[in-house]
Amino acid sequence: MNEKEIIYFDNAATTRLDDEVLNEMLPYLKDYYGNPSSIYKLAQKNKNAIERARQDIADIFNCRASEIYFTSGGTESDNWAIKSIAEAYKSKGKHIITSEIEHHAVLNSCKYLESQGFRVSYLKVDKNGLIDENELKKNICDDTILVSIMFANNEIGTIQDIKKLAEIAHEKNILFHTDAVQAVGYIKIDLKDLGVDAMSVSAHKFYGPKGIGALYLNKKIKVLSYLHGGAQEFSKRAGTENVAGIVGMAKALELAYNNLEKNNLYVKDLRDKIIDGVLNNISHVKLNGDREKRLANNINFSFEFIEGESLLLMLDAKNIFASSGSACTSGSLDPSHVLLAIGLPHELAHGSLRITLGKHNTQKEIDYFLNVLPDIVKKLRDMSPLYEEYLSKK
Ligand code: PLP
Repeated sequence: MNEKEIIYFDNAATTRLDDEVLNEMLPYLKDYYGNPSSIYKLAQKNKNAIERARQDIADIFNCRASEIYFTSGGTESDNWAIKSIAEAYKSKGKHIITSEIEHHAVLNSCKYLESQGFRVSYLKVDKNGLIDENELKKNICDDTILVSIMFANNEIGTIQDIKKLAEIAHEKNILFHTDAVQAVGYIKIDLKDLGVDAMSVSAHKFYGPKGIGALYLNKKIKVLSYLHGGAQEFSKRAGTENVAGIVGMAKALELAYNNLEKNNLYVKDLRDKIIDGVLNNISHVKLNGDREKRLANNINFSFEFIEGESLLLMLDAKNIFASSGSACTSGSLDPSHVLLAIGLPHELAHGSLRITLGKHNTQKEIDYFLNVLPDIVKKLRDMSPLYEEYLSKK
């Protein structure tokens, strides 16, 4: 590898904007600057572009255009879905069910609701991060109004059986939300078949722009306004629309869907090469998450006797950019709540490395990574008092 080249292994944090997406967006950033709510032609062009994008996205997800609301991303979609459903249905009950491994956008929305008098049950997961259907059934109470379970986990890539979990909730007349931020782009989602009532999406995870997302809300549910102000987004989410972002997200979704099988096969092959290469050549390493029910691009290892942060810094020095957990928890020294939830002891949770591949990664990059990693791991272990202690006991 050339010194100046970088290896980007953090596609769950965000992805590089596709050139085709950028080209689609550019006219809306430069030439068509009218406010979509105005009545002249310059503005109406934008209004039409928004509605075309809404229809295209609805066609891809197999829902109605009127069920798609544009937001600023996954965090807003999760907040909106959970808080507004809670508020709209609180006369029916004040109990919500989610899981211990959700993204903080969901967990902290639930924590907020707890401060407002709601009860929240956090489902445990098994050692691979999977939710047991019976656990969900057991936690349902007479006053449960909402279940929110993520489609695919952002740290360990575990994919849940959302269709089944939504069916269980529906048998008891309970609404179901899924955070599909990491799933879109890797799993084909047909909302009629999936049967969820609400779903969060974020464009920057599938080669679209940052700061734009969508929330699907089934027409049968009561929708409360999230941002109060003008009449945008069917008067439910006020604010001048991010036209370029909306157009870009629709294009990115179209590209993701048209190339989904091809891209999945490609990244899965690279993923398996890394998993096998690391497990076969480095000792005291564990793959976190389910080997089969995992996103095609996700790898999460725990290295014994190593601090994840030091590993990331050593990789960074080689221009390899990876992560030890989710981007939102970096900067915090707490071990990942997801890794603790799957039963890892603190030491192993601290020694984690998340590699999330994308369509731009190459075989050459994988070879380079597999070539440099054993040395880095050895250097770090040589400095570790815990490793020394382990060796002396052996
Ligand atoms: N939900 C999941 C599962 C995520 O991985 C992320 C981002 O990492 C989010 C929500 C938040 O999305 P955004 O960055 O668009 O706010």
